[in-house]
Amino acid sequence: MLQALLIILIASQISCHPLNTRFVLGATNATIEHIARCALRKNSTNIHLDRARCVLESYPLIDGHNDLAALYGIFANDSVYSVDLNSDMSFVWNHSYSRVDIPKLRMGLLGGQFWSCWVPCDAQYRDAVRMTLEQLDVIKRFINYYPGTFQFVDTSDDVLKSFHAGKIASMIGLEGGHSIDSSLGALRMYYELGVRYMTVTHSCNTPWADNWMVDEPTYNGTVLNGLTPFGKTVILEMNRLGMIVDLAHVAKKTMLDVLNVTRAPVLFTHSSVFSLCNHHRNVQDDVLLKTVFNFTIALFHVLLR
Ligand SMILES: [Zn+2]
Repeated sequence: MLQALLIILIASQISCHPLNTRFVLGATNATIEHIARCALRKNSTNIHLDRARCVLESYPLIDGHNDLAALYGIFANDSVYSVDLNSDMSFVWNHSYSRVDIPKLRMGLLGGQFWSCWVPCDAQYRDAVRMTLEQLDVIKRFINYYPGTFQFVDTSDDVLKSFHAGKIASMIGLEGGHSIDSSLGALRMYYELGVRYMTVTHSCNTPWADNWMVDEPTYNGTVLNGLTPFGKTVILEMNRLGMIVDLAHVAKKTMLDVLNVTRAPVLFTHSSVFSLCNHHRNVQDDVLLKTVFNFTIALFHVLLR
């Protein structure tokens, strides 16, 4: 199970907008010793690049959140076959978000990817479940369309097998609890389809959890005060299934409630440190400390400018 692994979370943040989060799964003593040996490398014209390659060629770097599937909807009407991901997609789709293509993923030595399945908040109470299923379909289709590059996986063992076979291990994260439509049955079926983490909320409340916007001073909508009793049941059911709880996008009280109820480590797939960037999408120091001490997760946030 993915949750059983020690997770080193390295979040990268560009200016003040939380964009990319990457983490390495499977850190063991051997991993740490190997990384230490890489750090000792000196005989190179580009020592830092050489050291980075030394680590990434031996252990999979996992990107925790990638919105490519949503771009298929925006730019290609969900048609996988009309898109060539071997092209430079920043020119093909010519949009600031369209930076992901196979040459860049390979150049970055990416070992694994959580492809994000996201549907807008205004689909909540309407067709969020259908839209979610359609986006899961898009993700599975583009993974299968590039069998030499991507391999669908849903266990940590298969992440490593895929990495050692030279593929980018491809997992699925569901971004937003509104996709389950308050149904534990829907949650369980998403797990069956391969979803291995779920972000508790996107930027809207569900009937059972507050999102980050309730922490904004100007917010004047409904406040649930974190997780409702049903929200706690959702978290425990995710724990039982082996679906990781992602706390990007949630309110601070929701983070704290989840940390009190969860029986497994959690993720912040695309958040940053509030004390470095005081946006309410980011994680405050007392929450970070609680995360580290309660769940033995080594968690590092790195600020890039
Ligand atoms: Zn997001």
